[in-house]
Amino acid sequence: AIYTWVDQDTCIACGACGSTAPDIFEYNDEGMAEVVYAGDGNTGTTEIPAALKDDLYDAVDGCPTDSIKLADTPK
Ligand code: SF4
Repeated sequence: AIYTWVDQDTCIACGACGSTAPDIFEYNDEGMAEVVYAGDGNTGTTEIPAALKDDLYDAVDGCPTDSIKLADTPK
């Protein structure tokens, strides 16, 4: 299982992750990324399905500030 969340203390609102993985990431009013998949609310407690793992890993690789966190258990 894989879980993800954005560290908004280091996110620079570049917009890359939402383009790469639009089913997982959107942006709040300040432009900071947040995990929205299945209503996660950036809590890192919603399992990301296998079908979205490639998009997720691409977003992690593309984040310039390493703000997209991964874990194999809920945060
Ligand atoms: Fe923030 Fe990284 Fe997403 Fe850019 S790619 S918006 S820095 S989390």
